Amino acid sequence: MSGLALQNVVKEFGAFRAVNDVDLTVPHGTFVCMLGPSGCGKTTLLRMIAGLDLPSAGAIRLDGEDITRVPTHKRNLGMVFQSLALFPHLTVGENIAYPLRIRGAPKEDQKKRVDELLSMIHLPGYADRPVSKLSGGQRQRVAIARALAISPKLFLLDEPLSALDAKLREAMQVELRQLQQQLGITTIVVTHDQREAMTMADTVVVMSGGEIRQAASPIEIYRRPADSFVADFIGQTNLIEAEADIQNHVTVLGQSVPGLQLPPDATKATISIRPEDVHLTAPGPGALTGTVTFVRDLGGTIETFVDVAGRQIVAVSTPRARPEVSVGQEIGVALTPDVCVVLRK
Ligand code: ATP
Repeated sequence: MSGLALQNVVKEFGAFRAVNDVDLTVPHGTFVCMLGPSGCGKTTLLRMIAGLDLPSAGAIRLDGEDITRVPTHKRNLGMVFQSLALFPHLTVGENIAYPLRIRGAPKEDQKKRVDELLSMIHLPGYADRPVSKLSGGQRQRVAIARALAISPKLFLLDEPLSALDAKLREAMQVELRQLQQQLGITTIVVTHDQREAMTMADTVVVMSGGEIRQAASPIEIYRRPADSFVADFIGQTNLIEAEADIQNHVTVLGQSVPGLQLPPDATKATISIRPEDVHLTAPGPGALTGTVTFVRDLGGTIETFVDVAGRQIVAVSTPRARPEVSVGQEIGVALTPDVCVVLRK
């Protein structure tokens, strides 16, 4: 297969297992974001792909070739890590040309490639500027161009945008994704920012405790999370316990929800419902009965907090779709089965 394949990859630091038996396939030309809380093993996995760390067990293949023990400089990689490590005493052009120069590329080829990359990163004419005179976003682009100078097979980035302010980061996410699509380069980015992952990735890999919890497209991860960890980690959700009796009549928070089904052999499950899928209605049959405890008007959206049998359920709506509610009011919370994702216990 062309692309990257990880097979049963393990990394142990002494008795501690930082990466546990990871299998992952990254088809050629796709963009993968590894996402997860601090310490879940994302960077360790990326470092093994980069050849900066050796796996304790398992294999890493690139375009069918076993590269598990191939040194970093022979893997044909482009890398951008959090500290950009641009050479401050060199110009923009000299920084970008550096990997070509140490490989002995002719001067004219270096210049041509630098000009090509500068136009790709929207900085044409910047070759002679000192990097010390660039803004944070411009430095970021130069670091990306330098990593791409050798036309790598694989492009690896670890939290590349985390030093930028929020607005610039969002703009750079779009730029990075567009550049990747233009070049068709297989790209893996480590991030802890779910919006960043949702913006850029073909496949989001959600990790926790050294393991992959789910690897799927952003929308699948959002709409069909594999478990309650993924459901809770990606976006906002309501996680509520459900129980089924012997005839598979389901109750949620002690109230019957007609039409909702648990897997045939399950008596308990967790239901995930996104706040935008919670429909507030008049109290009555077919809806859980609760009490409004708080209303947060954020301008573009309104969040309504409802207490149902001691559990808080959050509903989000746009101002126009908002029913008139006030704190203390009794209200119906309709859980239509098509928007409830049933997660096994
Ligand atoms: P963050 O988002 O905070 O960077 P991460 O998901 O990238 O977190 P890793 O850096 O991969 O996490 O670390 C995974 C676990 O392995 C952590 O518990 C970390 O303390 C441990 N770890 C990483 N490198 C080493 C090392 N060289 N020696 C011992 N433990 C390590």
